[in-house]
Amino acid sequence: MNRILRALTAPLAVCLLLLAFAGIDYATTLGAAPESISSNPIKIAVTVDDIPEHGDEIPGISRQAIARGVLAALKQNDLTRVYGFANGAFMSDNRGEISILKEWLASGYPLGNHTYNHPHLDQLSADAYIVDIAKEDQLLVTLAGMSSLIKERRVFRYPFLEEGNTQSKRDAIRTYLAKNGYRIAEVTVDYDDWAWNDAYTRCLRQHKASSISWLKVHVVDSANRHLFASSEVARHLFGRDISQILLVHVGEFDAIMLSTILARWRQQGVQFVTLDEALKDPVYKINPNLVSEGGRTFLDQIAESRHADMGALLDDTYSPEKLSAVCRDKPSPAAPNSAH
Ligand SMILES: [Zn+2]
Repeated sequence: MNRILRALTAPLAVCLLLLAFAGIDYATTLGAAPESISSNPIKIAVTVDDIPEHGDEIPGISRQAIARGVLAALKQNDLTRVYGFANGAFMSDNRGEISILKEWLASGYPLGNHTYNHPHLDQLSADAYIVDIAKEDQLLVTLAGMSSLIKERRVFRYPFLEEGNTQSKRDAIRTYLAKNGYRIAEVTVDYDDWAWNDAYTRCLRQHKASSISWLKVHVVDSANRHLFASSEVARHLFGRDISQILLVHVGEFDAIMLSTILARWRQQGVQFVTLDEALKDPVYKINPNLVSEGGRTFLDQIAESRHADMGALLDDTYSPEKLSAVCRDKPSPAAPNSAH
């Protein structure tokens, strides 16, 4: 990431965010994020969390439709073997949503374990957390009859990216995962798609077309900025490019925008790899062994464990805090029509 470019564009981005908060129409776009920073192509695996549902319900838009939208985005960009990380508790109100897991598998995409209840590890004992992992595994194995991909379910994604706020908890979970044949699906690229989803849902409820347009343009810029920042951080930490791992969720704004984001990346020379391929990168053998409150990406953990300050390389142009103000002020009781 070009620091000077970022310094120049960040104030402009703040201004545009303020315009979005006010719901003002405009045609301006940010100065483009760097198109490429390396002669080597960036490699990235896409992963999708919170199968079968993520974010607040949107009246008129079913969870099935959202999941199909995300699957379509992945297919349109020719991505193969995209892991979806599933949580059984998310369909406790609608057991029929098991059909979403089935559709995921039927698309040729494997499912991994994201715990049953999506708990904060920081707030739970290691024993209780392990029970939750095992409970999700029991759910996934019930799908063995419909897809041989279920054999490949032992890949684990920590909810909230919390890997342990005590050494003993951290060690206990890692020991359990290793003993039970799990690989850990770390995350290196996270553009906080959940915060864009939340903002989109609020704007939709308020019929804020101008703010929705703003979100659609700028989420692409945000994803770009995070990808290139992660690439630069990785080269700083490891002296080379690594296979990156993207986290997104099965949300409506992902269903709408993911295809555009992925197509843009491919246009820029980014190569998509499977999570299996990415995890073969030797960096993922590293245990950052960072005891911390709250979640961290893999790169953040490595940097923090080395006391390496990556602040200058990180991009917070569109932080969740800023996005939380978009369409925050004027709630409307009117429910949106189906906008999918
Ligand atoms: Zn999650």
